[in-house]
Amino acid sequence: MEFFADYTMTTGGAAVSAPSTFDVVNPANAQVFAAAPDCSPEQLDLAVQAARDAFPAWAAVPLDERRDRVRGLARAIMEAAEPLKRLLTMEQGKPHADAEGEVMGAGLMMQAYTGLDLPTAVAEDTAEHRVETHRVPLGVVAAIVPWNYPLILAAFKLGPALLAGNTVVLKPSPYTPLSTLKIGELARSILPPGVLNVVSGGDALGPWMTAHPGIDKVSFTGSAATGKRVMAGAAGTLKRMTLELGGNDAAIVLPDIDIETVAPQLFWSAFANNGQICIATKRLYVHEDIYEPLAAAIARYARTVKVGDGALQGTQIGPINNRAQFDRVRDLIADARDNGFKFLLDGRSPDGPGYFVPITLIDDPPEDSRIVQEEQFGPVLPLLRFRDVDDVVARANRGENGLAGSVWSADTEKATAIARRLATGTVFINKVQYLSPLAPFGGHKQSGFGVENGVEGLLGYTNAQTFVTAK
Ligand code: NAD
Repeated sequence: MEFFADYTMTTGGAAVSAPSTFDVVNPANAQVFAAAPDCSPEQLDLAVQAARDAFPAWAAVPLDERRDRVRGLARAIMEAAEPLKRLLTMEQGKPHADAEGEVMGAGLMMQAYTGLDLPTAVAEDTAEHRVETHRVPLGVVAAIVPWNYPLILAAFKLGPALLAGNTVVLKPSPYTPLSTLKIGELARSILPPGVLNVVSGGDALGPWMTAHPGIDKVSFTGSAATGKRVMAGAAGTLKRMTLELGGNDAAIVLPDIDIETVAPQLFWSAFANNGQICIATKRLYVHEDIYEPLAAAIARYARTVKVGDGALQGTQIGPINNRAQFDRVRDLIADARDNGFKFLLDGRSPDGPGYFVPITLIDDPPEDSRIVQEEQFGPVLPLLRFRDVDDVVARANRGENGLAGSVWSADTEKATAIARRLATGTVFINKVQYLSPLAPFGGHKQSGFGVENGVEGLLGYTNAQTFVTAK
């Protein structure tokens, strides 16, 4: 299989080219390096029809056999890690090591889901009757994925949707379509035709999918603003929905931590994947007793981190993925500068090609500033001083987001007591960014609803069907 050319969609198990294409840009040099198919409305109809046609037979396949097929796809993805990682770096920007981690992570997550069971529950078993609830698949699932982790976030959806007996139409972001199209190609020889269809296209394709009458569920990961549009688009057909949306995660650092140990951990909690992680630390609240030394230690560490082209050896942080996000992050930094906030590390962009923004640390900006209240999704972090736990919890819980948060302390019990007060779907204690395939992950408040992962995530791809049988 050729990984660096011939990008085609997958419909009904076959390759499909589109009447037109759109450009894919390498964010490390802002150069177009490939063209991806731009799915037409008619081609989407065909992909949805292929998924509909494949559904009854796939739903009837015994669960153990579906497990084997999903494991087969997971294995194929991991076996292709070498070319996939290079392709992912070209389109996404992340360093090779991180890209490889993502490809392997996608395969391992899918593998882990195959250990999950679809539970059957007996509510009543009396002399008169038996009441038993089964879980049945929904039909055709639209999986819509963003550009920060195209493969792992696709795996979050594919594994459980397919295991539960649904068929899927998968759509990557127009910024990162290529590695996902290649996953579709890999799947052609592993899954029955029509079980996994992969389409790529521009801004119109997502709305066509959310409104499409042939789709039963939308599983969407992306920004809250788009999530609202997805919900509105799907209202007309009352689709089932899982929304994994943005976050503005707070990290709360107590004064008893070991500064030199924790500083690099906090740095990576915010700057891994160049800050483009839904559950990255986006606001760092530091107790006033250690604010100066910890801020200095993070800034010192940040100066040692190598930012550059992800394809070059030694790069630890790549470029921002796309021009729009690059402009947005620079605008947030310019806003901080215009407002006279102090910088611990100054984020002026270097000249030259590529969407590079240097690592930027902002020194205790006001709580109501844009850089604190908005999700930056890039390499700029506000450090904020606090004295009182009640006050910092209230500040952490302010706003519409509720994705995740973390608490850092040498005293795990004390940290846990604070973590319990965070209004977020995930709370991390002295750790971040670990998502178990076996535990539910989802947002509170406007960070979304429904969950991915674990049995609860699997159940999100099913309807309950209750059998009441007279005896
Ligand atoms: P985005 O919302 O712009 O796009 C996400 C996907 O939706 C893309 O495939 C896009 O093409 C598609 N899309 C755009 N408009 C659409 C519409 N009207 N209808 C249907 N689909 C549409 O998000 P992004 O910029 O690609 O990703 C960044 C955002 O994703 C951040 O806010 C981040 O926090 C969030 N995110 C959340 C999670 C999570 O699990 N909660 C994980 C990763 C990223």
